[in-house]
Amino acid sequence: MFAGLALDRHAEQREDAAWALAQAADPRSRYLVLREDARDGYRALVAGAGLRLLGSVEQRALLPQAAATYLGEDGAGPLFSIQVDAAAGAALARELAVDDLDLRGAGLRLPGFDSGLFAYARALAHWQSRARWCGACGARLELLALGHRARCSNPACGIDQFPRLDPAIIVIVGWQDRCLLGRQASWQPGRWSTLAGFVEPGESLEDAVRREVHEEAGVRVGACHYHSSQPWPFPAALMLGFSAEAEDPAIRVGHELAAARWFSAGELVDGLADGSLSLPPRVSVSRALIAHWLRGRGVELDVLESGHRAAD
Ligand SMILES: [Zn+2]
Repeated sequence: MFAGLALDRHAEQREDAAWALAQAADPRSRYLVLREDARDGYRALVAGAGLRLLGSVEQRALLPQAAATYLGEDGAGPLFSIQVDAAAGAALARELAVDDLDLRGAGLRLPGFDSGLFAYARALAHWQSRARWCGACGARLELLALGHRARCSNPACGIDQFPRLDPAIIVIVGWQDRCLLGRQASWQPGRWSTLAGFVEPGESLEDAVRREVHEEAGVRVGACHYHSSQPWPFPAALMLGFSAEAEDPAIRVGHELAAARWFSAGELVDGLADGSLSLPPRVSVSRALIAHWLRGRGVELDVLESGHRAAD
């Protein structure tokens, strides 16, 4: 989810002012509108089963003053994003008679390209909203490179800042025929997920896997292998999924979790069947890791859950 976006980002040309002007003037340009939202961060305008992008004529008529961030080229012309505040976004949605949607909802409901484009735009919008003042000298930052670089306006300083990504590991740990899942106190009863945490300075990804699993569950991890990754702009993470093997199954729950325990495939199947257990939603890499682990034991998670829904 959110990964594999088929877009040419033109990362080198973004710095070229003449090229940038030509993109903005291209009549094929389309604009993804992000509406600021206190709860969800940003919501995107949607119509039917897709994003409701503005054409270049609509953008000039409806949002002529808004600064646009270049996203890339998808074969049908340049794509940009524009942030508007909550009131302006609501007015625009009314005028166009369209709805808006948060990113998690988009991941479940929109085509992969649309949800991926939204995730990318949301990550840039969040960074821009935090890249206003220089962290070194306190002067105002100016956005350059069509929204992809911020430069300090103080000539004596002039440092550049780039969109920030926070790497986080997420891991399914196995021990013989069981896997380790944890739950946080704030989650609904019965909800379990894989363990996860941010990578710290001075750590490799494998170091972070071993530290997090030990801190959260007291379990020592031996072998660990990269599985897959996912942009996770809530607000700025890159999730790096691993599978790992425990050296010892003894659990000592740390302060981050309310509980951690080992589940067999049969216990997961039975818990999902009787409703006593729920797993992370389809948008998450956590679910992909659990599905991968179950598949190795002959269980297809999506088939299992769709069977329950059909039976309901
Ligand atoms: Zn500065």
